[in-house]
Amino acid sequence: MRNMLPKKNKKELIAILEELIRQKTVNPPGNEYLAAKIVKKRFEELKISYKTFEKQKGRTNILGYIGKGKPQLLIAAHLDVVPEGTGWKTPAFHPVLKGDKIYGRGACDNKGPLAAMLVLASRLKKVEAKLRGTVIIAALADEEKGSDLGMKYLINECKLKPDWAIIPDVGGYMKRVIIAEKGILEIKITAKGKQAHASTPEKGINAIEIICGFIKKLKKHKFKYKQHPLLKKPTLNIGMIKGGFAPNAVPGQCELEIDIRFLPSQKKEQIIREIKSLAPKNVKIQITQCTPPSQVKKESKLVKTLIKNLKAKGIKAECKGMGGVTVAKNLVLSGAEAIAFGPGGDDAAHISNEWISLKELQKFIEIMQSTILDLLK
Ligand SMILES: [Zn+2]
Repeated sequence: MRNMLPKKNKKELIAILEELIRQKTVNPPGNEYLAAKIVKKRFEELKISYKTFEKQKGRTNILGYIGKGKPQLLIAAHLDVVPEGTGWKTPAFHPVLKGDKIYGRGACDNKGPLAAMLVLASRLKKVEAKLRGTVIIAALADEEKGSDLGMKYLINECKLKPDWAIIPDVGGYMKRVIIAEKGILEIKITAKGKQAHASTPEKGINAIEIICGFIKKLKKHKFKYKQHPLLKKPTLNIGMIKGGFAPNAVPGQCELEIDIRFLPSQKKEQIIREIKSLAPKNVKIQITQCTPPSQVKKESKLVKTLIKNLKAKGIKAECKGMGGVTVAKNLVLSGAEAIAFGPGGDDAAHISNEWISLKELQKFIEIMQSTILDLLK
């Protein structure tokens, strides 16, 4: 095949990916420093300057810099993985190469794309003098648990401020370029009732029953919104419920936590008004977390350049939106143009027998190389 990497690169790719999978970076507790050591070794071998950032000991972020000055193009993958779970045919942290596939926890999410970028780093280093701007290759901590020690920390406390970013952390076999993400609104609802003995429930007010009635109304509610070309309708998830302390007592308090994924046409104040209009009197409503929706223009140079280079490799990619959230959102909200796209399928991450195709990773390297060179020429 014309686009295949030289044999040496393929060997490197396998070696780096296997080494990364062997490092048990399950979050929690993370221990990203284990995999960060592999990244550091690679940067040192290639004489790429790098910095490490730790908000908490052992929760390492490592960033390598190729080229200099502006614009800055960040490519960020994450070092942490989800727990292995059950159902593995081979040990989760002992990579197995079978045909074109490498199996192991993190093969797809997100160590495969990271290994690919570390292979590409050697080629970028060779043309460093020609780059107009800086490529930052980042390996991040804490992505699977909200990024407080990873991307959010780098943006808020370490002055990370790229102009562009590509986050190779979504499935779709490179056919989806995510340019829009819904907002997230998390709300805590507390019902106050009146505690009483179970033998005389009429003397109490059952807080669990108040919440149950409220949930029924929430499930039927249709939020006001305008349709979005890339995002599906808003969603509401009944996520957590906590109430009561014994079967023989009428519960005096019950707490419910919900997650609403919302569209750019919805304001959080309006959503709260709608929720309040459904709520009974003895209920308190608090916002616990709100992240607004984010979007990058389809016509942006970053999006157009990536789509063009995907097309050149025979991949007809489409711009899409999503309701889940990647760290691209944090970057967009901090002023960067950031998009998510990458190799691997939706069905390959967070499952047992996680895998990635080497051929696809090699193609990913080619596409990233031509995209980066186009953007920084
Ligand atoms: Zn991921």
